[in-house]
Amino acid sequence: MGTLRAWCLGLLAVGIWCLSVYGTGPSPLPSDAPASEFSAARANATLARLLGPERPHPVGSPEATVFRERLKAELTRLGVPFEEQTGQSCYGHGRWRACATVTNIHAVALSGEGPEVLLMAHTDSNPRGPGAADDGSGVAIILETIRALKARAIKPVHPVAALFTDGEEKCLCGAVSYAANAASVARTGAVVNVEARGSQGASLLFQTSPGDAKLIDLYAGGAPYPATSSLYPEIYRALPNDTDLTPFLAAGVPGVNFAFLGEMRNYHSPTDRRANLSLRSLQHQGDNVLSMAGALATADFSTLKDSNAIYLDIFHRWLPRLPQAWAVPLALAAFLMIALAGYFSRRDRRTPHPVLASMAPLLLLLLCVVAGFVLYAPLAFAGAPTLHAANPVLQAALVATGVGGAWPSNPLWLRLALALGVWAAALWTVRWAGPIACWLWFAGLAVVSALWLPGLSPYFLFPSLVAAPLLLLTLRGGRGIALFIAALAGLVVWVGFTAGAEDIEGLRAHLLFTLPAGFALLSLLPLLAGRRLGGSAFASAVLALIFAVAAGLTVA
Ligand SMILES: [Zn+2]
Repeated sequence: MGTLRAWCLGLLAVGIWCLSVYGTGPSPLPSDAPASEFSAARANATLARLLGPERPHPVGSPEATVFRERLKAELTRLGVPFEEQTGQSCYGHGRWRACATVTNIHAVALSGEGPEVLLMAHTDSNPRGPGAADDGSGVAIILETIRALKARAIKPVHPVAALFTDGEEKCLCGAVSYAANAASVARTGAVVNVEARGSQGASLLFQTSPGDAKLIDLYAGGAPYPATSSLYPEIYRALPNDTDLTPFLAAGVPGVNFAFLGEMRNYHSPTDRRANLSLRSLQHQGDNVLSMAGALATADFSTLKDSNAIYLDIFHRWLPRLPQAWAVPLALAAFLMIALAGYFSRRDRRTPHPVLASMAPLLLLLLCVVAGFVLYAPLAFAGAPTLHAANPVLQAALVATGVGGAWPSNPLWLRLALALGVWAAALWTVRWAGPIACWLWFAGLAVVSALWLPGLSPYFLFPSLVAAPLLLLTLRGGRGIALFIAALAGLVVWVGFTAGAEDIEGLRAHLLFTLPAGFALLSLLPLLAGRRLGGSAFASAVLALIFAVAAGLTVA
C-alpha cells in the first residue's frame, strides 16, 4: 500500500514536470497573423534579411557596417526616422578594459510626451559566430514590435524609441557611450533590453532595476506567458556578466532585461545560426517585449522606482508576488503556525523519533547532492571537459559538477538517472521523516532566505504559506488532505524550478537539478512519513545507475 502510494506521488511529480516544460507557452504566430500582434514568422523573415549570408559581424568589421545598412533599410521600410551616432568609448577595469569606436542607431518609432521608452538590442555579433540569436533576434524582435505598435494605432503617452547599439560583445561600448551623454539619459524614461544566451527556451525576465515592484506589476498585467522570478536578478547580480542594460542601471534609469538561455552550446559559437533559433523562443520574447513596451508607454515613470517585490511564475501562467518587506514577518508567522500545529498534534504517531525527524530533510538534501555527483560521473569520465582551470582542485571540481563538461547527446538518459537518483534518496529517507519537521524546514528556510537572500524567499515562503494555515486547521482531522495540498504547492514551485534550471547548463550542472528536486521531494515526504520503502529505494537507485551509464555511453 505504501509502495503504491509512493510511486503514485512520484508520477504526480513527473506530471508536474511535464506541465512545467510542455504545458504552457506561446505557439509561433504565422506571417499572416493580425497586424497588431507579434508574429515570430514575420520577425524571422526580418532576421533573414538582416543577417543575409549569416557572417560574423563584430564591432569595427566591414560586415558590421553591412548589417547596419540592412537595418537602416528595414527602418526606412517601416517609415521610422533614425539617427546614427558615432563615438569612442571604453568599459571595464584593468585587463578587462577595452575600447571601441562605435556607431549606434537611435530611432523614434512613436511620438509622445516626456522621456522615451527605449527598446534596446545590439547590432554587433561575437567574432566567432553570425549571432542569429545573440543579438540578431533582439534587433528583429524590436523591428517587429515597432511594426505591431504602429499597426495598433494607439497614441502612447510617452514616445517609444529604439536604440540599436554597437560593440556590446567587446565592451558594451555602444550603450556606454549613449548612457554617458547626460541629455540621452534625461530623455530615457525606461529601458527594455533584448538579449540571448542560447537559441532556445523560455524568454525570461532575468534582470530588473532596483525597486522593481511596479515593473513586475506591469509585466504581470501584460505578458501572456510571464517567466520570471525574484531569484534571477539576485543570481545575475552575483555573476560577472553584463549587458547593455548595465550602464543604464548605473545611470539610475529603470529597466528590464529579457533573454532566452536554452541550448547554450550555440552561444557565441559558429552554430548561432537562424536554423538553430527556436521560433517559440522568438515568439515568447516578442510577446514579452511588445507587452512591456505597450505597458511602459502609458505608465507613470515616477512610480517605476518603487519598493522591491518577491515573485515567481507558476507554469508561465500566473505571477504571484508580494512586497519584499513582507517576507520576514510572513515567514516568521508561517514558522510559528507550523510549530503550533506540531505542538497541539504532538501525539502524531507517524513521527517515530523527533531528533531523527528533524534531521531527515537535511539527510534527503545531502543524499540528493551525492546522487548527482555519482550519477554524473560516467558522463564526466566519458567526455573531456571544455573548460580548463590551472588549479587541479578547481579543474576536478569543474568536471565533477559538470560545469564546462560533456553534453549528453540525449538529455533523457541523464534526466531519468538524476530523477530516479533523487527519488531513491527520498524513498530511503522517508522512514525517519515527520510532517511537521519537513514543513518547519521549509518555513525556517523561508525566514533565513527572507533575511539574507530575499529573491530566493518565495520558493520557501509561498509553499509554507499554503501549509501553515492548513496544518493549523486540521488538528482534529483531515491532515492527509492538508498535507497533499501543501505538497502540491511545494511540487509546483520546486519542480518548476528544476525544469527551468535545465535551460541554464543543460543538466551538466547537476546541482541545479538535484537540489531543487530535493526540495520538491521534501514537500512530498510528509505524505509518506514513517513508511519503510527500502526495496523501492534500492530498485530506483539501480535503475538510476543504469541510466547514468547509458548517458555516459552517449556523449555528444
Ligand atoms: Zn548579446
